[in-house]
Amino acid sequence: MPLAHSLYALAAIFLIAFAGLSQAQAPVRSGGSLPVLGDTSELPASAERRLGDRIASSIYRDPDYLDDPVLGDYLQSIWQPLMTAARARGELGVELEERFAWEVMLIRNRTINAFALPGGYLGVHLGLIAVVESRDELASVLAHELSHVTQRHISRLMSKQSQQMPWVLAAMILGMMAASKNADAANAAIAGGQAIAVQNQLNFSRDMEREADRVGFGVMADAGFEKQGFATMFDKLQQASRLNDNGSYPYLRSHPLTTERIGDAKGRLQLEGPAPPSVSGEGGRARVVHAMMAARARVLGDASVDALRLLLAEAQRVPSSAAESLKPRDAGALYAGALAAARLREHTQARSLTDKLKTAAAGSPSMANALELLSLEIDIAAGRAAQAPKLVTGNSRAAVLLQSQADLAVGRPQDVSDRLQSWVSTHPKDAMAWQLLATAQGQQGQTLRAIRADAESRVAQLDYGAARDRFKAAQDLMRSGRDTGSGASAHIDGSIIDTRAREIDQLLREQALQEKLDR
Ligand SMILES: [Zn+2]
Repeated sequence: MPLAHSLYALAAIFLIAFAGLSQAQAPVRSGGSLPVLGDTSELPASAERRLGDRIASSIYRDPDYLDDPVLGDYLQSIWQPLMTAARARGELGVELEERFAWEVMLIRNRTINAFALPGGYLGVHLGLIAVVESRDELASVLAHELSHVTQRHISRLMSKQSQQMPWVLAAMILGMMAASKNADAANAAIAGGQAIAVQNQLNFSRDMEREADRVGFGVMADAGFEKQGFATMFDKLQQASRLNDNGSYPYLRSHPLTTERIGDAKGRLQLEGPAPPSVSGEGGRARVVHAMMAARARVLGDASVDALRLLLAEAQRVPSSAAESLKPRDAGALYAGALAAARLREHTQARSLTDKLKTAAAGSPSMANALELLSLEIDIAAGRAAQAPKLVTGNSRAAVLLQSQADLAVGRPQDVSDRLQSWVSTHPKDAMAWQLLATAQGQQGQTLRAIRADAESRVAQLDYGAARDRFKAAQDLMRSGRDTGSGASAHIDGSIIDTRAREIDQLLREQALQEKLDR
């Protein structure tokens, strides 16, 4: 399947691109143990962000890009403490924090991978979430990637070359992403002629990898995650590399495990002494919640009927007596089975598996929260949203969006408009929220507002051209006088649309100018 290749190819092209850039500079080592990463000159943060935006706007349009609010919230519950710790340690300065996107993108891909892109965008494959056994392990990978960004590794590599390089690099990455839709073409391009360059790059990147390990370890520990997660993640990667399992572990290709890295990791843990008691939430329950999220990643990663049937069969084998002292493994199997059953439209099965989990959720708010969302999801799929109780834990993104889907399904667009209008006022970059709002407003006959919300969802995903087309359509509609609105509210809607249309035009003009300069 070409999808499995596309982002792997993306990671690979980074290796190649950086190889070309770093050939001129040999890594410089200081006398101490800390690697000195060549020149300290950096690509300005604003230029790196522009490059990142270009790449991100393509990823948003890639069918492999996945906005799953439940997994998104879970990733954020790990990501935000890491950001806070990086800030407190001085790794993340004010300028970088303001300039960069700091966005974690979920990629529908079953291979194990995570990668940092320019401008503070991070990619996480579903396969990584599915395979790690704790939030601490996931935190160790995210902290490592975060540190690549805060240590400005990307910009340092790019800055040595001419001013054109950012543009050339973006073009290469985007071209490669397009080519990777045809897996053979992508592989041929990667294999062809660049092997030596990649080898040179790996020498250089070793120091960066060690720095990202060192900084990432500190960030993760300060954020309150179990340091042991760092070690067990390393063990996993080591095992995979021994098995030569590179096909399913593209992470190993971009992050080769060297004896230095392994030695550093072991030394660091010994230095730290025995691990303190877990602070990553509700003790053993955190493992159960993690197992459920990993299970979700498995279901979303392979929607084929055969795969869903297999997961359902596995869940049915979990003994019902297990509920009181539920093991993470069984919780994961039940969650995956329930979600798989819902997708297979076996709604009774889905509900009974969820009920089995609910018995075990007593006393664990995070587990109860996850199951409440799962129940609602199952009810929506079964066409039973009308009978579903309103969510109790209603202020997470997943809750807001899922409740809105439920309300839309049963014809309560007014509730959705009220909820989402207030949500997008504080989360203006939430494309999915804008889309749901557009649907609700459309159902209420508020055509102008619906078109505007649709346009804003395109802005949120950096597709300014599509946004401009929609704002223009809204303006045409206003001029034709065919819109249903009238009086003061129509006047306000109209002036918002005119203002936003002008702003987007301006953005597009600046973008065109910038592209000319970058060339
Ligand atoms: Zn790395």
